[in-house]
Amino acid sequence: MSRSHLEANHAPPIPHVLIVFSSSVRSVDTVRVLVVEDEVKMASLLKRGLEEEGHAVDVAKDGVEGLWMAQENPYAAVVLDVMLPRLDGFEVCRKLREAGIWAPVLMLTARDAVGDRVAGLDAGADDYLVKPFSLLELAARIRALVRRDDRARPTVLANGDLRLDPATKQVFRDGHEIALSPKEFSLLELFLRHQGTVLTRTQIIDAVWDFAYDGTSNVVDQYVTYLRRKIDKPFGRHDIETVRGMGYRLRQAEQA
Ligand code: CA
Repeated sequence: MSRSHLEANHAPPIPHVLIVFSSSVRSVDTVRVLVVEDEVKMASLLKRGLEEEGHAVDVAKDGVEGLWMAQENPYAAVVLDVMLPRLDGFEVCRKLREAGIWAPVLMLTARDAVGDRVAGLDAGADDYLVKPFSLLELAARIRALVRRDDRARPTVLANGDLRLDPATKQVFRDGHEIALSPKEFSLLELFLRHQGTVLTRTQIIDAVWDFAYDGTSNVVDQYVTYLRRKIDKPFGRHDIETVRGMGYRLRQAEQA
């Protein structure tokens, strides 16, 4: 019942209304999000909706898997269904907090039951959404949670005259602003966080795409090419280096 409402609202892919109407929305961090939901259709809807916001999304199909994944990976937010096999959402949340994992948790409760809300917040959840809900509302809640999460708010990353602001989603080189797609931006952010380090294609896919990505690692080569065309070529640089047989490295600028 709840699912049909969701689907009725969003049978076609989510419109990019938010992006069109509000430039401030573009400042949402493109982040890795974990969805813990056993219902396959609902899980894939959530995944698709969040991916259209530019997030990399992993899905866990039960509470035990969700708990494990949330402990193994640095998620910027966790969408956690209450009704889950093996370990319910309350237990997953409680155990995460006990384990010292403080990623923001958005609980999905099946009905507007005060008991569920209280139990969720007691378990350490940051927010909750009552099914049925719209994907736009979910996206807005996730944005709010990620923004509120000060621990995850990075400062401006720089390498020579190349600057990337994760908060405003802006990239500058030599004072010129460069427009990047969400994936290009995430890729550049990864390089800037690991300046001078060789990153393998697998490491890049794992960080910028997600577990379920089943394409080839050619996509990395493709995106490196896009990125070079935007941040290197127009400026006569060759900062993103190919390390033969290994991967890619962002050359570290010499200190002025
Ligand atoms: Ca469920």
